[in-house]
Amino acid sequence: MLKTLSSKIALPLCAAMFFFAFSACQVEDEGQFFLNSRLEIKFFGANREAERLCRQEITRFLEEFEQKASAHLEDSEVSKFNKAKAGERVQLSERVYKLFELSMEYYQKTGGAFNHCLYGLSKLWGFMESDGIYGIEELPSQQQVEQLLSYADPSLIELSDGAAVKFHDAVKVDFGAVAKGYALDVCGQIARSYGIKSALFNMAGNVYAIGYKDDGAKFSIGITDPRMIETGEEIFAGVRLADTSISVSGDYERYFLKGGIRYCHIIDPFTGWPVNTGNSVSGIISAIVISQNAAQADAFSTAVMVSGPEEGKRLLEQNGLCGIIITADKKYYVVGDVELFGVKNYERAEWEASFGR
Ligand code: AMP
Ligand code: MG
Repeated sequence: MLKTLSSKIALPLCAAMFFFAFSACQVEDEGQFFLNSRLEIKFFGANREAERLCRQEITRFLEEFEQKASAHLEDSEVSKFNKAKAGERVQLSERVYKLFELSMEYYQKTGGAFNHCLYGLSKLWGFMESDGIYGIEELPSQQQVEQLLSYADPSLIELSDGAAVKFHDAVKVDFGAVAKGYALDVCGQIARSYGIKSALFNMAGNVYAIGYKDDGAKFSIGITDPRMIETGEEIFAGVRLADTSISVSGDYERYFLKGGIRYCHIIDPFTGWPVNTGNSVSGIISAIVISQNAAQADAFSTAVMVSGPEEGKRLLEQNGLCGIIITADKKYYVVGDVELFGVKNYERAEWEASFGR
């Protein structure tokens, strides 16, 4: 049984972001679960009735969306697509169709570093167990990796009129790197439709901020220290932001160790190996992206993990995004205008010195 393996670690449900500086009138609740993660909502306004109705609608939306978009639920639309034969038309609801479309866009904009067709490889590496337990007894062979890699190709999917068709049986999708961000964009739209002017939504490494705090200041968001075991600090640093979203990806939440090597849940779509193993050499242990659009922040933070600092910077700049890139040598790089504060255990690296520009 997989659960008895020493290399296995239970999926941590802890969020990768922490809030600082709460205001007196914030409202909290138990939170709604979506794709194994808890959505934490904080409202900073005074309209309790609007907040209650908004919460209800968000809960309904997340429950419904999960039923359709989860790769773990047998009857979801995503599972139907994954089980479909080549040439079979799989009719999709509007939101799941949108996930396919957005993912194709991000696949193209990240030069393939974001790739929603890695389901087979994620499963091969032991990261697709629905019970949240992961790890593998034996590393896969290079031949197994290469075989699955040939189907990790979004161009083998055709989208039209609300349906998706694959050109090979083995093409399988997983929206784990973008669905939470997309869901937060929808939560934000719902909240705005209830007239909410100030709120924070936090879901497993993705934060969406509406407006400013009630005192007019920006929100302060704490970013998890990717090496907290070594530094003894939970927080890498804080970021101040308002009316935008931020996403963090890293190698420190879902991973297993084998032979002293860390195999994490983010797969390099160019090699088929978890980032920073095999021939994958990004050197990045955490990537943080700020964008008005939470789906975009989510997708790009995953893509930057794959890309390495220099290419990651280029991807962010090309798409008008800001971010922070933390590397294994405990350095961090800042792209664009980020209000960062309180960094302790990491050294700021300058782009020019590192990459000769
Ligand atoms: P995130 O935590 O947002 O970085 O997303 C990571 C999740 O997305 C993984 O657990 C996989 O389900 C999936 N995934 C892994 N590697 C990639 C990749 N290179 N591009 C897109 N999705 C990925
Ligand atoms: Mg992501």
